[in-house]
Amino acid sequence: MSRKFDVVIVGGGVIGSSAAYFLAAEEAFGGSIAVVERDPTYAEAATPRSAGGIRQQFSTPENVLISSFGASFIKSAAEYLTVAGEAPSLQFHEGGYLFLATGAGLRTLIANQQLQHQLGAETRLLTPNELAATFPWLNCSDLAGGSFGPRNEGWLDPYSLLQAFRRKARSLGVTYIQEEVAGINVSQNRVTSVSLRSGETIGCGAVINCGGINAWRIAAWIGLDLPVRPRKRLVYVFDCREELTDVPLTIDPTGVWVRPEGANFVCGVSPEEANDPDSTDFELDYSLFEEVIWPTLAHRVPAFEAIKLIRAWAGHYDYNTLDQNVIIGTAPHVPNFLMANGFSGHGLQQSPAIGRALSELVTFGEYRTLDLRRFGYDRVLNGQAIREANVV
Ligand SMILES: Cc1cc2nc3c(=O)[nH]c(=O)nc-3n(C[C@H](O)[C@H](O)[C@H](O)COP(=O)(O)OP(=O)(O)OC[C@H]3O[C@@H](n4cnc5c(N)ncnc54)[C@H](O)[C@@H]3O)c2cc1C
Repeated sequence: MSRKFDVVIVGGGVIGSSAAYFLAAEEAFGGSIAVVERDPTYAEAATPRSAGGIRQQFSTPENVLISSFGASFIKSAAEYLTVAGEAPSLQFHEGGYLFLATGAGLRTLIANQQLQHQLGAETRLLTPNELAATFPWLNCSDLAGGSFGPRNEGWLDPYSLLQAFRRKARSLGVTYIQEEVAGINVSQNRVTSVSLRSGETIGCGAVINCGGINAWRIAAWIGLDLPVRPRKRLVYVFDCREELTDVPLTIDPTGVWVRPEGANFVCGVSPEEANDPDSTDFELDYSLFEEVIWPTLAHRVPAFEAIKLIRAWAGHYDYNTLDQNVIIGTAPHVPNFLMANGFSGHGLQQSPAIGRALSELVTFGEYRTLDLRRFGYDRVLNGQAIREANVV
């Protein structure tokens, strides 16, 4: 065995790199850390393909608190992630999130808003008249209301956050290894080493599975059945002839979402579960834009009748088929195998809190800040879904 580290993190996307940073920054840890990442260009990883949204508008209490920490961390990124005097530029736009509802969805918005308020989020419920006055570009004729989060909600540049974590982690002594992990070796219910594609074996005291859509394969090496599968999502970029101001990330009652991106806009929609097969291809589908998204947007925002599609991209959610919430913690039968997988479209904003949580688990064997025990693997074993209603 050529090398040995106290902790080996498999996958150096935003989750693996955040975990590496928080562990390296934790004074009580003091051990050695390696991140094994097979593709340092992240060409196919989820992180750079993300829409970059951050919000507190969730229906699960832990998710509200996780993203609250995410927002405060992102706003203070210069304090934590500066390297050699150079602060990261995460391009955080606090443009807000606006969830819209027709009659059927209003009750859910009200219940969610009450929960969010109790947990410190500044989500506000708006009547159709208030919506029309606040967002004059919006067609409110068929709306029953909306829920607007003006603070700690908006969007940032995903790739910059990933690189900022990575750069800071390296500056704190973390070793990044460009390799593919091809196996995990377990003896007497403990991981002892990871095998790399090159043939090298790296010894370790603990492993953290941050493999994104590949996480279920990595988990299978230790006999763990992870209900996480790759689900394709498409993002379209368009130009609008008319200039609109103060457009938050807006979610139509149909699930179609749109937000500004510089002088343009980005948009997308998640398919119905029955029409959402596992997929790892990057094929684009322009008919989804032409036949579903554009008509919906043009109805909701009349100015979007005159738009020009510029480009599109595909990416993959690491989709938790049980309940669309992260699975974080240790494997029940292999306690030094940790995981943080199944983010189902909200892992970017969750990366600071999840990295911190993983660092606490490794260092102290328990959560010290946010209690995320409900998100552990046990709920998979027991089939106890914690269903997140606000999956966009
Ligand atoms: C279209 C789209 C829009 C999204 N929008 C949002 C949003 O608005 N807000 C939000 O919060 N989240 C959003 N997300 C989700 C978010 O991007 C992901 O949850 C997050 O990036 C997951 O990070 P990760 O590090 O787990 O995965 P990844 O970024 O995919 O990183 C995993 C890494 O593991 C590496 N790896 C895998 N297996 C191995 C192995 N065996 N050996 C070595 N390396 C390995 C891969 O190469 C990869 O780089 C979106 C995702 C998509 C696709």
